[in-house]
Amino acid sequence: MIEKELSENTAHTLTADPESNIFVTASVLLEYLFCPRFIYFMNCLCIDQNEDKRFKVLKGREVHEGKERLNIDYLRKRIGCVGKEIGVYMASERYHIKGEVDEVLTLSDGSMAPMDYKYAEYRDTIFRTQRYQSIFYGLLIRENYGKEVKKCYICYVRSKNLLKEIEIKEKDFAEVQSMVDEIIDITQKCYYPKGAKYKTQCIDCCYRNICV
Ligand code: SF4
Repeated sequence: MIEKELSENTAHTLTADPESNIFVTASVLLEYLFCPRFIYFMNCLCIDQNEDKRFKVLKGREVHEGKERLNIDYLRKRIGCVGKEIGVYMASERYHIKGEVDEVLTLSDGSMAPMDYKYAEYRDTIFRTQRYQSIFYGLLIRENYGKEVKKCYICYVRSKNLLKEIEIKEKDFAEVQSMVDEIIDITQKCYYPKGAKYKTQCIDCCYRNICV
């Protein structure tokens, strides 16, 4: 079985071999969330992005920056955390996803939750990209540990380690699964997907000159 990874560095090498075991990373999910056509341009036309101009995606890519670990035991305690594992790399063949979770928390009720560090300020809202990324990690934990995942946590380091909780429902997992399915579908079938929801996103997009 051939393993292919859909990441920002290797996505365009993906083949349409239906037997291939394909893995989508959190970074690729972020690209898709910014605009599904990114997947088409990257994976089907093999046109690389001009990273400098992609402010918005880069913004969402605070993902694994600044890996220094913080002593936030007091915060973990507050949410009923009774155990933690740091920097856990996981994959799920069933859902075709893989990635490294900053922290895998065990909560006092026996359920588990991902903790994601954002080296950013909290701007009065949890961005859609951040939310789905956390759900993506939650799905990885559920698959790998076989435990219930009902919550995710995001720690905003530049807002004095402000901790935000996100509740996850079954429909949220289903949504992420369907996004991953579409990413694989676009890549394998090379169809032209819908563009960004908000046209303001197109203003500084690196693909704006070829996107119709
Ligand atoms: S120009 Fe707009 S629709 Fe086209 S790829 Fe960029 S963000 Fe998406």
